Amino acid sequence: KQAETAILRAENLEVDFDGFKAILGLDFQLQYGELRFLIGPNGAGKTTLLDVICGKAKPSKGKMLFKGHIDIARHQEHQIAQLGIGRKFQAPSIFMTLSVLENMLLSLKQNRGLLSSLITKTTSEQRDKLVHYLSMIGLSNKSKEKAGSLSHGEKQWLEIGMLLIQEPELLLLDEPAAGMTDAETEKTGELLHKINNNQTVIVVEHDMEFVRQFAKTVTVMHEGSILREGTMQDIQQDDKVAEVYLGR
Ligand code: ADP
Repeated sequence: KQAETAILRAENLEVDFDGFKAILGLDFQLQYGELRFLIGPNGAGKTTLLDVICGKAKPSKGKMLFKGHIDIARHQEHQIAQLGIGRKFQAPSIFMTLSVLENMLLSLKQNRGLLSSLITKTTSEQRDKLVHYLSMIGLSNKSKEKAGSLSHGEKQWLEIGMLLIQEPELLLLDEPAAGMTDAETEKTGELLHKINNNQTVIVVEHDMEFVRQFAKTVTVMHEGSILREGTMQDIQQDDKVAEVYLGR
């Protein structure tokens, strides 16, 4: 039997919202270690696809398999997170009155209650993780600051750090650079590549300049299925993609 090389595989996927098919006949594969950008016009089904992957939306037809054998539709959202799929939504979910370090600790000891995760002893392995991921998101020297006092970009990185510290195998990010300054956007792109050294990543992105600069492989969605896949160069030269985006 051939070894499974795809971390995600969708077959003939369909998502139906009261008769409206947000995803229709979608086939998709993602290999271990990829950094994949998902683009496409508004309403193409990008968010719905991420929703299926993290268990928030259930398919009405077809399958979404994680690591070849895990049928995602059979699991609840929180189980899927435990199986190793992390999702960052656009709305922030950090505790503004806690410090950066405390937020990271909470996420690291997520199975404990709020208070106990802050007062229980941190093992040396956990400390190493905290140091590592704080440095990765560029917040080592702000670990004692309240999350609420961070810039918009820093808050987003903290949230990414809180996902990373749980060490998911697959990370799903929705417009990670939205609302950021040029300098923050640049850092976010670099962070994506750092993350991708160890993890498989899917990024939904509307900012084409960001995609051009940081994407490896791009999947273009349109009307609930996949229109094209390839490098940014391939995609930019594609007539069909231009038609969908520009109405040509
Ligand atoms: P994208 O992220 O590419 O902009 P979405 O996945 O958000 O697209 O939406 C795809 C289509 O499905 C849109 O037409 C949207 O209005 C519709 N849709 C999304 N979620 C729901 C829902 N919960 N109920 C009904 N329609 C929905």
